Amino acid sequence: MANMLKSVSMCYDFRLCSKYQKYQMKIKKYAADINLTALGTAYLFFFYFSGITHLLLQLTNTTIFFGLRQAAYMSLLWLIPILMFPNRTKIISGLIGLILWITSLISIGYFCIYQQEFSQSVLFIIFESNPAESQEFIAQYFKWWMAPVFLSHTLIAYLLWRCVKPINGAKSLRVALSLIIFTLAIGLPTFKDYILKDRPLDFTLEKLQKRMEPAQPWQLVIGYMQYQKQLTNMHALLEKNNSLPPLSGLKQKDGDLPSTLLLVIGESTNRNHMSLYGYNRETSPNLKKIEGDLAVFKKVVSPRPYTIEALEQVLTFADQENPDLVMTKPSLMNMMKQAGYKTYWITNQQTLTKRNTMLTTFSKQMDIQKYMNNSRAQNSREYDENVFEPLEEALKDNAKHKFIVIHLLGTHMKYDYRYPPEFEKFKDAKDLPSHFTEIQISAINNYDNAVLYNDFVVSKLITTIKDKNERSLMVYFSDHGEDVYDTPPHNMLGRNEGKPTAAMYTVPFIVWQSEKWQESRRLDLSKFLNRPYSTSHFIHTWADLVGFEFSEFDSSKSLINEAFKEKPLLVGDPKVKGQLKALEQ
Ligand SMILES: [Zn+2]
Repeated sequence: MANMLKSVSMCYDFRLCSKYQKYQMKIKKYAADINLTALGTAYLFFFYFSGITHLLLQLTNTTIFFGLRQAAYMSLLWLIPILMFPNRTKIISGLIGLILWITSLISIGYFCIYQQEFSQSVLFIIFESNPAESQEFIAQYFKWWMAPVFLSHTLIAYLLWRCVKPINGAKSLRVALSLIIFTLAIGLPTFKDYILKDRPLDFTLEKLQKRMEPAQPWQLVIGYMQYQKQLTNMHALLEKNNSLPPLSGLKQKDGDLPSTLLLVIGESTNRNHMSLYGYNRETSPNLKKIEGDLAVFKKVVSPRPYTIEALEQVLTFADQENPDLVMTKPSLMNMMKQAGYKTYWITNQQTLTKRNTMLTTFSKQMDIQKYMNNSRAQNSREYDENVFEPLEEALKDNAKHKFIVIHLLGTHMKYDYRYPPEFEKFKDAKDLPSHFTEIQISAINNYDNAVLYNDFVVSKLITTIKDKNERSLMVYFSDHGEDVYDTPPHNMLGRNEGKPTAAMYTVPFIVWQSEKWQESRRLDLSKFLNRPYSTSHFIHTWADLVGFEFSEFDSSKSLINEAFKEKPLLVGDPKVKGQLKALEQ
C-alpha cells in the first residue's frame, strides 16, 4: 500500500492523481475494516477438517498432491456464508463445522486403519458385500485407540471454532470477496470447460465433482452419488450379460478330475525390463530360479495400451476386428461358470470408479469377489502382496473345480508407490546407457524396482499353488506394456495409443503347470514359445489350455494349438477409422 501511495504522489496529472488517490483511500478504509486475522482463522477452521487427512496422506507419501490442493481451494467456499452474514458468524461456522466434523471422522478413521484416502470404492465394499462381510469390515474399522484420536480431532476443531470471529468490513467488499472466491473455486473452471472448451454439461459437472470431492463433506456426498451412478451402469451391463445365450456344447477334457486354475493379470509390465526376458538388470531373480518349470512365451503383445480397453478383448471374444463382441458373447468368466467352476476375483486394482466399471462388471460375473484396493486415486501406494491372503483363503475352499483371477497393480505409475523400501535395489545409473538424464534414470530405477517386486509377487503366487500339490495351472501376463524411455529418441514415458511404440505392447506371458496337471494333461508348450501372438485372442488359448471344447472355439487363434495361424498383431483404437495397424516387434 505504501508503495502505491508513493507512486500516486509522484503522479504528474493532478486531476487523475486525486481521483486515483480518492479511490485508494476508499479501498484502504474498507480493507481496514476487514479483520484479516478473523478471515485467516475462519479459513483455517474450515480447511482443518479436510486438510488434516490430506496432510497425513502427503506426510506418509501415500498419494499425489491433487487432493490437498483441491481441499485447500474448496475450503475457501465456506467463507462465503460468514462473509455474507458476519453477525451470524458463530452459529453459521458452528453448523458448517458440525457437518464437516462428522464426515471428517470417517476420513480420519479410514486413514488410521488403512493409511489411505476414503473413496467411493469403500462405500461399494460396505454396500455390496454380504452383511457378514460388511460387519467384518466395519468391525475392523473401529479400534479402541480411535477414541483418543477422534477426541483430539474434536478438541482441536472446537478450539479453532472458539477462535472464529466475524470478518466484518464494508458489505460491498465482503460481497466482492465472496464473488472472487466463488469465481476462482467454481465459476472459472466451469466456464473454461463448458463455454471455452465446449464440453457437454455432464462432463463439466463430473469434472467439477472431481475437483470438489477431496474436500469435506463432498468426499462422502459425491462419493455416494458416484457410487450410485456407477452401480446403475454396472447393473445394466450385468443384466445384458445375464441374458446372453451360453456357449454351445461346452465340455472339458478330463472334466471329472479336480482342477485349480489361476489367471494372473499383471499391469503395465514391459517384458523387456525383465531379466527373464534378457534385460541386463537382474529384475526377475525369482522367476529365473524356476524358469525350468515355466513356459515363457517370447512374442506376445497386447492389442491396446490401456487396462480396460485391453481386458475387454483379453477376457471376451472381442478382438480388434470385432470389438463389439465384448457385450454380445459370453465372457471368459461366464465360460468358467458354465463349465461348473467356482469362480473368484481377487483384485488389487481400484474398484468402482467410472473408469473401472467394466472391470467391476467382469468381477461381478464371478461367484466371489475380493477387492483389496479402495484408494480414491490410482496413483496411491498399494502393494500387490495384498492378494496373498485372499488367495490362500480361496485355495482352502474344497470346491472340486476352482477358477481364480488375480488382478495386480503390477508396475503401474507411480512406480515408486508399487514396492516396499526393501525392494529398492536400483538406485543409480549402473547398467544403464549413458544418454539418460537424471530424471529419466530415476524413473527407470523406480520402474525396475517395481518389476523386481512384481517378480517377487508372481513367483510367490506360483510357489503358493505349487505347495498345494494339486492338479493346477497358472497363466500370467500383463495387460499391456509401458515405455520407460525405451524407444529412441528416449523421450516417451508411459503409453499413448496415438503414438504407439512396441514397448507399450510387449508383455510377459508365462504358463506354469503342476506335476499332477501334467500327469493327466501333458502339454508340450516349448515348441510354441516364439509364436507372435496378441492377447486379444487369449480366450481361445485359455480354453485350449484348460481343455475346453465348444463350437465358438477357434483353434487358429490358440497360441498352443497345432492349427494356430499367424496373424498381424493389430494395435490402435478399432473405433477410430484407419488407426489399426500391425505392430512390429
Ligand atoms: Zn493397465
